[in-house]
Amino acid sequence: MSEQQSVALQLAVQLMRRESPTPDDGNCQLFIARKLAPLGFVQVSVNVGGITNSIYAREGEKEGVLAFAGHTDVVPTGPVEAWDFPPFDAVVQDGILHGRGAQDMKGGIACWMAAVMQLCSTFEPLPTLQILITSDEEGDSVDGTVRIVEYLQAENKLPDAVIVGEPSSSKQVGDVIRRGRRGVVQVAMTFNGKQGHSAYPDDADNAIHQAMQPLADIASIDWGEAVDGFPATSCQITNLNAGTGATNVIPGVAETFLDIRYNPTNSFEAIQARIQQCCEGVDVNLDFRHEAQVFSTPDGKFLDMVCDAIQSTTGITTNRDTGGGTSDGRFLAAAGVPVAELGLTNSTIHQVNEQVAVHELDILTDIYTKIITTFEA
Ligand SMILES: [Zn+2]
Repeated sequence: MSEQQSVALQLAVQLMRRESPTPDDGNCQLFIARKLAPLGFVQVSVNVGGITNSIYAREGEKEGVLAFAGHTDVVPTGPVEAWDFPPFDAVVQDGILHGRGAQDMKGGIACWMAAVMQLCSTFEPLPTLQILITSDEEGDSVDGTVRIVEYLQAENKLPDAVIVGEPSSSKQVGDVIRRGRRGVVQVAMTFNGKQGHSAYPDDADNAIHQAMQPLADIASIDWGEAVDGFPATSCQITNLNAGTGATNVIPGVAETFLDIRYNPTNSFEAIQARIQQCCEGVDVNLDFRHEAQVFSTPDGKFLDMVCDAIQSTTGITTNRDTGGGTSDGRFLAAAGVPVAELGLTNSTIHQVNEQVAVHELDILTDIYTKIITTFEA
C-alpha cells in the first residue's frame, strides 16, 4: 500500500468518527482546516442559519481554478443495534471500512484531501484549488452550498469547474459520473367544493368530482422525449386525500400532490403553465415549488478530461449519466460552473451498515490526483 493510499483511509476514519448528522458538522471542517493549513489553504467560513460552511482555497502555481465540493453531514443511522459495527466507530475489517459516511461522502472528501496533500508535497505546479464543504446537503440545503456559491459570486471567485464528490459510481469506482440532474417541481393542489349530505347533492359541491378531470388531464400530459442523456420528464400524483371517513358525506375539500422530475426540454415556467391549463375553470389552489433546477454540463473539454483521467487510472470507460435525485451540483451549475460528480460506489448509501471497500479509496485518490494534475482552465 502506498503512502497516499493509507492517508485517504486515515482521513476517512477520522472524519467518520466525528459524528455529524445533518445539520451538525461535528468539527469535521475544523479538522479539514487543520490538515490543509500547512499546505497553504486558507479557510473562509460562510456559516448561515446554524449551518457550517467552509471554503478552503490555495493559490496555484498555474492558470485555472478547480474546485471540489462536498458535505460533512450524514443521514441518521436508523436503529444502531441493527448495525454490525457501531456507525461512528469507523471500523476497518477485512479490507472494508464500516460506518456512516463511508460512501456518502466522508470517504470522498478523504480521497480528495489525500490527493491534494500528496501533490502539494511534490512541488508540481498546480491550479488554484478550492474545497467547498457544507454541513447541509442531506437536509433542506437552504443555507448550504447555495450560500457558498453566493459568497464566491460576490467575491468574483467562482471556479472554472467543479468535481462534486458524491458517490456516483455503480459497480466500480469511475464507471459512472453524473454530468447533470433532473429538476424537481412539486405542486400541492387543494380542490374546493362544499361539504354536504350525499342524499342532498344539490346542496353540496363534491371536491373529488371537481378533481377528477384535471387530474386525468394532468396524468395524460405528454411531457416530451428523453434528451441528452436525460430520461423523459415524469409527473406523478403522489398523494390524494379527501373524504371525512363517513360514507354519507360529500367532501368539501380534496388535496393532491404532484411530484415532477423534469429534463432540459422543460422548465419550471412551462410546467406551471401546463398544470394551470388543466385546471382552468376549476376552483383549486395551486402551490408550486421549484425544489431543484435542472442542470446539465455539456460534453466537452472538462468532461473529457475527467473521463480520460478515469480511463488512464483504471482502464474503465465511463458512463456520463444524469440519473439519481438532486445534488448540490445544481447550485454551482446555476452559477455557470461546469459540474462533474465523481465519487465512490453508492451501494450502501443511507442504509444501515454503510460501508466501502478500502481499495476504492485508493483508486479514487489516484483518479482525483490525475484530475488535479491534468486540469486546464
Ligand atoms: Zn451525499
